[in-house]
Amino acid sequence: MRTLVAALCLASACFAAHAADLVVYTARNEQLVKPLFERYEAETGLKIEYLTDKEAPLMARLQAEGARTEADLFITVDAGNLWQAANLGLLRELNSPALDSAIPAHLRDPQNRWFGLSVRARTLVYNTDKVQPSELSTYEALAEAQWKGRVCLRSSKKVYNQSLVAGLIEAHGAEGAETLVRGWVENLAADPFASDDEVILAVGAGRCDVGVVNTYYFGRLQRDNPALPVALFWPNQGDGERGVHVNVSGAGVTTHAKRPEAAQAFLEWLAAGEAQAQFASANLEFPANPSVPVDPAVAAWGEFRQDLINVSRAGALQAEATMLMDRVGYR
Ligand code: FE
Repeated sequence: MRTLVAALCLASACFAAHAADLVVYTARNEQLVKPLFERYEAETGLKIEYLTDKEAPLMARLQAEGARTEADLFITVDAGNLWQAANLGLLRELNSPALDSAIPAHLRDPQNRWFGLSVRARTLVYNTDKVQPSELSTYEALAEAQWKGRVCLRSSKKVYNQSLVAGLIEAHGAEGAETLVRGWVENLAADPFASDDEVILAVGAGRCDVGVVNTYYFGRLQRDNPALPVALFWPNQGDGERGVHVNVSGAGVTTHAKRPEAAQAFLEWLAAGEAQAQFASANLEFPANPSVPVDPAVAAWGEFRQDLINVSRAGALQAEATMLMDRVGYR
């Protein structure tokens, strides 16, 4: 396995020299995917080369390389990003009964150009000294007057919140969602934070009472500081309610893959068995494949019902969500 050196590998000849069996572009953190590349190489004897970067430069690179690209597989976080990649024509439609049965329909592209591999829930966190869980119910309820000056949120610039608001638009329509997000902004205890970690720490410090974050950030902070007075709450679990907003990290085979069969086989391997468990647990996430066991540290947070709306809607409604947040002054 080799990490691609970007400067040396703009020409496809550089890959031919290495004779890779599979080339991956990944925006998922290297420390999370590298052990899986190594494990696959050990199991199959195949050689994987990979390039890590943020999703935007990787997508720009795939676009610029076009048919000359050596990338066979694109891995990234957030359905909004996967949707963008598919929308740009960077991913190909797969015909894979294995993937269709491994990954639930709401966690993959309806046209099978990308597949969720791990699930992250974007849920509520609350200060256990200041809030009783019985006071909490739904994302929507955080817009109510009782939460005035008590809510902390991450910046609207983060795609996670654009996806969250896209879910509100899907559930309540544009006008209904706008009223709700305006209510959130009116209830803020502090200006939006730059990261989920900062939101959790502000909740823990009592600067605010409740926040909205991805579960794995909570898991990491809880692991480092078990005394933090913060707990997770699963909202929207009542009868007829939509469930917890979830998103995915996932992957798709590139349109111009030189080794599409090898890429699909690797994707199928990631979607099942121990590889799937490892893909999720490495980041304290939930496996996308429901037949794969959840990491015990994650299972300890309790069971919840997911929102079954297709995660691709997060991408389709992303621009609308961004404009909505802008209109109500959510920075
Ligand atoms: Fe994240």
